Amino acid sequence: MLLGGIEAGGTKMVCAVATEEGRLLERVVIPTGTPENTIPLMLSFFKKWEPAALGIGTFGPVNLDRKSAGYGYIMKTPKKEWAHYDLMGAFREALQIPVGIDTDVNAAVLAEVVWGAARDCSTALYITVGTGVGVGVYCNGGLLHGLVHPEAGHILLSRHPQDQFPGVCPFHDNCLEGLASGPALEKRWGRPAGELSDRSEVWELEAYYIGQAVTDYILTYSPQRVVLWGGVMHQPQLFPMVRAQVQKMLGGYVQHELAGQHIDAYIVPPGLGEDPGILGAILLGKHELSNTSETNRYKDIQRLSDNPFLNLYHMNAKNRMGRMFDYYFVSRNGEMDIKAKTHSRRPEGMAVYALWKENPGLLVMLRQFRYPLNDYIYELPAGLLEDGESAAEAAIREMKEETGLTLEIYEGGAEYFRNPFYLAQGLTDESGPIVFGYAAGEIGTEGQEDGEDIAVVLVDKKEAKRILAEERVSMRGAYLLMQFLHAEKEQPFAFLDEEG
Ligand code: ADP
Ligand code: ZN
Repeated sequence: MLLGGIEAGGTKMVCAVATEEGRLLERVVIPTGTPENTIPLMLSFFKKWEPAALGIGTFGPVNLDRKSAGYGYIMKTPKKEWAHYDLMGAFREALQIPVGIDTDVNAAVLAEVVWGAARDCSTALYITVGTGVGVGVYCNGGLLHGLVHPEAGHILLSRHPQDQFPGVCPFHDNCLEGLASGPALEKRWGRPAGELSDRSEVWELEAYYIGQAVTDYILTYSPQRVVLWGGVMHQPQLFPMVRAQVQKMLGGYVQHELAGQHIDAYIVPPGLGEDPGILGAILLGKHELSNTSETNRYKDIQRLSDNPFLNLYHMNAKNRMGRMFDYYFVSRNGEMDIKAKTHSRRPEGMAVYALWKENPGLLVMLRQFRYPLNDYIYELPAGLLEDGESAAEAAIREMKEETGLTLEIYEGGAEYFRNPFYLAQGLTDESGPIVFGYAAGEIGTEGQEDGEDIAVVLVDKKEAKRILAEERVSMRGAYLLMQFLHAEKEQPFAFLDEEG
């Protein structure tokens, strides 16, 4: 399935198509003229690719009130030809596909949360300091809108005592955009911002204003990550200066290591380079598609808890007869990554079916304490995938950590045995494949976390029967023990072969 995205700016329109996973296939840049001469060029690009849905991250102000007749329209703007233009409708009518729309900065923060530097955050900000200043707000697992949408680029700042510059914002004397945007720098110092690198007083003052704004945002939103970018932030000396100002202005009041010693990991450039805007637009399209799909059996999903690791979700679900009812499930995924929405097949974890290399008549199992049972249970070694890790890589790492053993992956057999299968599909959207292989080395459980209580056991067929008969056993563990009971020592993975 292909998705389209538009990063709609005052000077250029970036149009792209991508896969669901966010792999960009083609991108074109069209200068922003009038709607009459710009939109047809954009449409012909998308008509060539026929995406299933389109997302637009746009300059503003834009009407984002879904209940309003003007939803998806650009509102009053200095770009006269675009004022009161039905940007979303233009694409929906011409392409006849679902079209999602939000601000350019909300799109960017979404992409950083899903794929970039703010991954796994439930609250994060994307601040761009460029021609204008904008702030995208991802809050409690969703993009923040309200009366209209946040305009945090125009927050009012305390002027530096030595700064006489009147500001460039036509609306405010002392707002962030008026004092610190690229054009403000150019007007104050008489040269384009990019040519002022060696003037330290320029960046001292700039960091004073950006730092003040970031401090206010931290105090207001309590973000878990602050992504800072835009043309002006391409001055590399500015990041440490802004961080230092923020620490000074917070005055040690916010008690968290990210606001303290680890501020380098808190106020960061994007994880997606120059692409958060366009990838965010792709995600807006993706979400719109899952919201409007006719086969969709739910209206919306809310996260009911705010825990680390695992959360409870509520869904307004539609039954077979079209009637709505309450459905509850748990997930380790964030709100945007719930599979009901994304339909992604990405596994969260994996389990390992490892035979003892020196004697393949033995299977490596764990006897592990599990809190929901308040007891020990027999199960396969397993774990969660870290960012960017394949199931096989995670299996090798987890084996080492949990058992001290070295895992050698078995590469034979049919590929479909390595599909991520679902774990407890009435309870959660989680899935994971089984990784098959041989284990060798010295058993050692020093890599265990404090919350873990694991013993490694090597199980032969007799012990397998005893475990099945007498012990508590995980579902995956039980079925693979049954498989193990029928395996021949000489060809222990024959059951993975396609033929036979
Ligand atoms: P926009 O805000 O229009 O999306 P940008 O984020 O690229 O665009 O910002 C453009 C602004 O950033 C211009 O005012 C320009 O002067 C300034 N700028 C661009 N490159 C640099 C640089 N290397 N250092 C400082 N300022 C820069
Ligand atoms: Zn302003």
